[in-house]
Amino acid sequence: MKTHPPLFLHILVIVISLFVTNQALAVDCNAVRAKYHCPAQKHQLSLSFDDSVGSVTPKILDILKREKIKATFLVLGNKIDCKKYKAGTKSLALCNQRFNTLKRIKREGHDIGSHSYEHYHHSKLNPAQLRNTIMRSKALLKPFFTTTPPIFRLPYGDGWFNQKKAPQVMQALKKAGFEHLGWEMTAYDWNEKYQHGDQILDNVMNQLCGGKGRNGVVLFHDGVFENEHEGRVFTANHLARWIPQIRCAADFKPLLFFKKRQLKKR
Ligand SMILES: [Zn+2]
Repeated sequence: MKTHPPLFLHILVIVISLFVTNQALAVDCNAVRAKYHCPAQKHQLSLSFDDSVGSVTPKILDILKREKIKATFLVLGNKIDCKKYKAGTKSLALCNQRFNTLKRIKREGHDIGSHSYEHYHHSKLNPAQLRNTIMRSKALLKPFFTTTPPIFRLPYGDGWFNQKKAPQVMQALKKAGFEHLGWEMTAYDWNEKYQHGDQILDNVMNQLCGGKGRNGVVLFHDGVFENEHEGRVFTANHLARWIPQIRCAADFKPLLFFKKRQLKKR
């Protein structure tokens, strides 16, 4: 007569295999911290995405939801200005998709700010052009702002990092009622030379843990300003793998954790 192994053996095998699978997926944080010379004490970091909204933004939102992270999206006004397209065109359909994604960003509790209407070098604009691109973005994004005052991030940081040389840009933002949002760390994910392997993760981890280490806002991109619908595909494809490794060295915080004094939640 054929004998069967007892039921508890079956259960034991299932439990062991579940354990092994989980171990394979889990990140070895000791190895990650050793690789980037991170201290045991965690830093604090807030994710932000520029040139929003793009075709990959929903994918990024799925990842953030799963990881329970609240991020900040800096939106280019021209990407959600759907009135400029004719009825029945593919461009209008794509614009409506982006507009719906923007509504989802708001619904899911992320922060939203302006990245201007056009992705210009703002220090090179004349006063009328400067005011026009800032105010157009403000009119379009008004229903979506999540903070008081609303936030604005200058394309290329131009007018912010060089504000001594071009003070008119920050003055125009202030006059329009915006608070500028800079960044403490940058992923350089827009740069094709880093879109290989984990070089973008390396950029973030080296800034986070290098030297004395850093806390603050880190700049990623979900959109591509040269292409109004496409997004940063490489970032969207790898972010799910990078987040658990970043988490070995930092806790993810919402923007207001760092901007309590400057901003209130709307
Ligand atoms: Zn940009």
